[in-house]
Amino acid sequence: MTVDHSATRSRDTLPLADRAAGLVGSVIDSSTSLLAAQTHDIVRFAMGSPADEAVPLAEFRDIADQVFDHSSMTYGATEGEPVLLDNLVEYLAGTSDPTTEDRVTITAGGMQGLDLACKIFINPGDLVIVESPTYTNGSATALSYGAELLEAPTDENGLIVEALPDLVAAAGRTPKAIYTIPNFQNPSGTTLSLPRRHQLLELAHEWNAVIIDDDPYGLLRFEGEDLPSLQALSPADPLLFSVRTFSKILAPGLRVGWVDTDPALRQLVINAKQAMDTCTNVPAQHIVAEFIRRGGLDKHLAGLRTEYRHRKDSMQESLHRNLGSRVTTTDPEGGFFLWLTLQGEDARISTQKLFETALAEGVAFIPGPALSASGRFDDALRLCFASTTPERTEEGIIRLRRAMDLELDA
Ligand code: PMP
Repeated sequence: MTVDHSATRSRDTLPLADRAAGLVGSVIDSSTSLLAAQTHDIVRFAMGSPADEAVPLAEFRDIADQVFDHSSMTYGATEGEPVLLDNLVEYLAGTSDPTTEDRVTITAGGMQGLDLACKIFINPGDLVIVESPTYTNGSATALSYGAELLEAPTDENGLIVEALPDLVAAAGRTPKAIYTIPNFQNPSGTTLSLPRRHQLLELAHEWNAVIIDDDPYGLLRFEGEDLPSLQALSPADPLLFSVRTFSKILAPGLRVGWVDTDPALRQLVINAKQAMDTCTNVPAQHIVAEFIRRGGLDKHLAGLRTEYRHRKDSMQESLHRNLGSRVTTTDPEGGFFLWLTLQGEDARISTQKLFETALAEGVAFIPGPALSASGRFDDALRLCFASTTPERTEEGIIRLRRAMDLELDA
């Protein structure tokens, strides 16, 4: 007779690590799963995904055919495929975020970059400053290493850096890290001004705090002038850990990103990555490298900027037409998102409740509290303008108005 060993096992005494308590999951990602399960028509303003038509699929197919050979089916170098490192660094030389090969490590998207930053710098109990609102998948990464979060306010010029000294004084200890999304922030769409970039670098030095500079959207500016990256303002700065990704400019499913760190830190980044996954998906790296080599990225980005500007303007017009003074919004100069705050009577609506009603009406967004480390902003929500056509956007905003009317009457 075979013995069923599992019959005597208890799930209540599982010897979990202390850090398991900090694995809080992502509200953003769970809303994607919820949306995927819906069968009715939904206008999707929730996810930060590039428009389907914005992914250069035909070119990827052509390149994939070329790069799928035995050499791309074996393990690659942990720091990244040399051809991608070369092409990427050459491409970035012409941007506001230049770098050198001794600084770059290719990662599985931006999320792995955030994980590497926290793995290297965060001890349990360390204080990490996060923006309010913020990209909570990023703050969740810090929590997964036991960080304590200190939420700092933002305005139309990004993180209010001037407010940090008082916040830190009130906390009674200096932060170990400052997590910022300086360009077209997720979720607010706002951009950190140049004076604040300088101030932030100064404060980080005063506190010996690492700046985790998460910038997936910087190359997607469709209005105004590019600002120099933090790294461009402080080129040999050991306290800067820059996280980048191809997810928003090419396709998130490729899972290719990079981190840009001080050369002296790079071996530690590589060692940490070796302990996670040995190397990033090799064929995906070759697809990206070849796309850049063929000169496709500049043309592609130019097309995205034109299209996303049009989509952002169309969303603002739809909001103005359908909701008028019932809402205010930020007005991003790039990226994917705008942040909407309910006004007047409508401010009584809980956007978390509105989410359910809106879903039933056929429109999805991310409610404000899902984008705040402490669940604030129940009168606000995030809309992604990048993934829907202007016609669908208009339909979605009409549905949003209907959902708001229903909530007001409830
Ligand atoms: N940081 C920010 C601010 C993001 O918006 C995203 C994607 N939504 C990421 C990091 C994660 O990027 P990736 O999909 O490349 O892991």
